[in-house]
Amino acid sequence: MKKKLENRNEIVAPRLGQSSEIQKGADRPRVKNQAAAMQRLFSVKKHDATQLHYDFRLSHNGVLLSWAIPDGPSYWPGHQREAIQVKDHSLEYKFSERVIYEGPGAGTVMQWDWGTWVPLPGYTDVDACMRNGLLKFTLLGEKLKGSWTLARVKLYARNRPNVIWTLTKEQDSFARSEAARSILEEAPNSIITGRTMKEIAEDPNKSKYRDKDQGKLFEE
Ligand code: MN
Repeated sequence: MKKKLENRNEIVAPRLGQSSEIQKGADRPRVKNQAAAMQRLFSVKKHDATQLHYDFRLSHNGVLLSWAIPDGPSYWPGHQREAIQVKDHSLEYKFSERVIYEGPGAGTVMQWDWGTWVPLPGYTDVDACMRNGLLKFTLLGEKLKGSWTLARVKLYARNRPNVIWTLTKEQDSFARSEAARSILEEAPNSIITGRTMKEIAEDPNKSKYRDKDQGKLFEE
């Protein structure tokens, strides 16, 4: 299945840290900011906090729109995965993996996927889409590819503090059947280091970033 997925990957996600623009030395901060401004980046972290979840973030207008997805993304269009909207995160956020030792997010954090995203035609006014509660987009990640929909759930329990959305795969050549192997099982490890959650937990300071430019991509 993995081979099959790779063969279908006609659009190759950019290796952000390997772009020649980003690698140029002299005016690196400016060039990096331009690259960050031109590209809509996305990040998915696997976070083993009180409850394991996937932190799904889309860069937009200087922030990262953020959701926590308890069951993780699914390539089967029949799965509407609950996506709990959380506060926008700063672009200073890094592609990284680590162990958080204290606080509500305490636990191991893995960089599970990354890449760029593009709104689908009709959804390019992202602010309006966020207000309207419907955003359709293409992910050009290393694990997540093709068209996806984030849809706000209109009627969610009033006692819940967060706004609930769903993340659903659209039908396209990347979509999988219900019986197909889950991407979460097929590719469970870090996109940066290939490590498992256990390996990150045991040695969180080793190889935090694939390279240091990549880790700094979101920094000012
Ligand atoms: Mn989290």
